[in-house]
Amino acid sequence: MKAPRFAYARPATIAEALALLDKHKEDARVLAGGQSLVPMMNFRVAAPKVLVDINRIPALAGIKITKSHVRIGALTRHVHLERSVEIADYLPLVSAAMPQVAHAAVRSRGTFGGSCALADPAAELPACALALGATFVVAGKKGERRVEAEDFFKGLYATALKPNELLVAAEFPRAKPGYVSAFGELARRHGDYAMVGVAAHGSTKGGKFADMRIAFFGVADRPLRAARLERALEGQPAAKKSIEAAVAQLDDDLDPRADLHASAATKLHLAKVLVRRVIGSMEAATA
Ligand SMILES: Cc1cc2nc3c(=O)[nH]c(=O)nc-3n(C[C@H](O)[C@H](O)[C@H](O)COP(=O)(O)OP(=O)(O)OC[C@H]3O[C@@H](n4cnc5c(N)ncnc54)[C@H](O)[C@@H]3O)c2cc1C
Repeated sequence: MKAPRFAYARPATIAEALALLDKHKEDARVLAGGQSLVPMMNFRVAAPKVLVDINRIPALAGIKITKSHVRIGALTRHVHLERSVEIADYLPLVSAAMPQVAHAAVRSRGTFGGSCALADPAAELPACALALGATFVVAGKKGERRVEAEDFFKGLYATALKPNELLVAAEFPRAKPGYVSAFGELARRHGDYAMVGVAAHGSTKGGKFADMRIAFFGVADRPLRAARLERALEGQPAAKKSIEAAVAQLDDDLDPRADLHASAATKLHLAKVLVRRVIGSMEAATA
């Protein structure tokens, strides 16, 4: 199928893009990598009247390291995150996630901002943003505002972005010494969206778990932190025994829905299997 007719605009600056979004409001959609939006238009799941193509706005792309954080521009392509030495050094969790995001062809066009703005509940990058405590930078007519990852993902394909706003970047706090992260996912085939995935970050300083942030994806309508599991690990020795004792908390933390891939019970089981592996690798990193 082909997309319904639409008008096309290619602004050169953020200000021009915002003016177009404000003018056309719900009728407009931002076009980034187009890897999700274009198929949705071809299947007629989405029918925007105006496409605002942000691909020629250089200010939206790139990775910047400051003293306090790592800033990833919304238009930074997946392939750049995957190959970036800076991301590997400063955000190893994101580096570990990237090979799992779709396939090489999709990663060459798909963008960080597109992935977060789309908010697929089984996507890797939103869960990494949540685990790492990222803040999203959102621009609108009245200027910029900042939204914590915790408040950004609102539900199935729903975010805190308003129709006349643009996701500009995300700022990830730089990890403190003694903090480690680990990533894992189970998918039917490599490159598919996850059946269940876990992105974890926290301290294992002095051989004890502290400040753990464990974000699951593919188990709810949005990426989800396992609050009870995190609390159960706090202050415990970074060892298999503590992980095993804490994993039972997932019965209360998660309430997965059955989907095309698996029943709810299977998803919960897989979440437990995966989290043992992921947190186990953080424990191993301390040893
Ligand atoms: C075969 C295939 C497999 C895939 N597998 C995975 C996978 O395993 N994991 C995964 O995470 N993704 C997967 N994807 C999706 C891929 O990662 C996309 O790149 C991503 O979902 C959207 O990024 P994009 O830049 O292409 O955005 P687009 O398709 O251009 O846009 C997606 C949505 O975000 C909005 N948007 C984009 N940028 C902005 C912005 N800066 N501000 C406001 N709104 C914005 C658009 O208006 C649109 O609604 C897959 C895609 C395909 C085709």
